[in-house]
Amino acid sequence: MIVKPYTQTLYMDALISLTKRLKKNHPKYNSLQDELNRNIAGDIGEEAVMNFLKKVHLPYKFFAFHNVSLYGESLFQMDILLISQYYAVILEVKNIKGEIEFKSHPFQLSRTLTTGERNSFDSPEIQLQEYIYQLNRVFKSAGFSIPIYGAVVFPFTTSYIKIPPNETTLLFRNEIRSYLRNIKTENPPLSIEGLNNLKNLILNKITNYKPLPLTRHFAIHPNDIINGVECPACNFVGMKKIPRHWICPRCKSISDNAHTRTIKDYFLVYKDTISNKECRHFLNLNNAHEAYRILNNANLIKTGKYKDAKYTMKFM
Ligand SMILES: [Zn+2]
Repeated sequence: MIVKPYTQTLYMDALISLTKRLKKNHPKYNSLQDELNRNIAGDIGEEAVMNFLKKVHLPYKFFAFHNVSLYGESLFQMDILLISQYYAVILEVKNIKGEIEFKSHPFQLSRTLTTGERNSFDSPEIQLQEYIYQLNRVFKSAGFSIPIYGAVVFPFTTSYIKIPPNETTLLFRNEIRSYLRNIKTENPPLSIEGLNNLKNLILNKITNYKPLPLTRHFAIHPNDIINGVECPACNFVGMKKIPRHWICPRCKSISDNAHTRTIKDYFLVYKDTISNKECRHFLNLNNAHEAYRILNNANLIKTGKYKDAKYTMKFM
């Protein structure tokens, strides 16, 4: 049973806003575009595995969670976590196409594309060992004791494994079912009630990874961010305000609420508070009353009064 389904992370949402709004000639633009592409590929892989898990039936109850960040010794983020009365399994999903080699001196994953381009990645084996260790700490400190296993999952056959890892379990997506069936299930360490308690513990302890605003996270000067309201029809940034509407100078479409996404972009990327003046600047407005109306209708948390009023957005 899926208890935490696949969802796009807030970090991903913020990364999309940042690459859209960062000036194209910025020295970090290309590396951020790479970071975005890596995250998109990662998400596609994780979604595919979660969809596969929906169809998996085992002779006992199990719960699946997508994207679980917990505090052990530090914050750690697992792609997919499964728990049952017998065991927990962490799946580290790698959507990396090309010829894959697992290396152990030092631990590294490298891939070669058909073009001959070679890239190296952090070792998923080391990642898994770390997650297993940290998850063990979380479980133990809450009084749960079950075996924790881990596997690296390649969701698509566009990955060709030339050198597999020595000790870590490696699975293609369609092998997950038989892998789970083969895990020993005798004398469950948890009762059904214990399993439900563990599920609730995890749901309560999940911490969202929110390195916002992203300009701070990536040490980018806010002045390098393109301001203006984005056109929902053609994505042009710089809609013009006309009474009651926004109009796009490029495609001429009209929107009543295009500023809503722009306000969200502001908090994801630019700064964690907004004043009336900052709102006028970011939305290219020249009317303080208009900015007041927009800010007070945007579901923001307001502190201070009159000229000192500041607003902030709460992200879950
Ligand atoms: Zn437009």
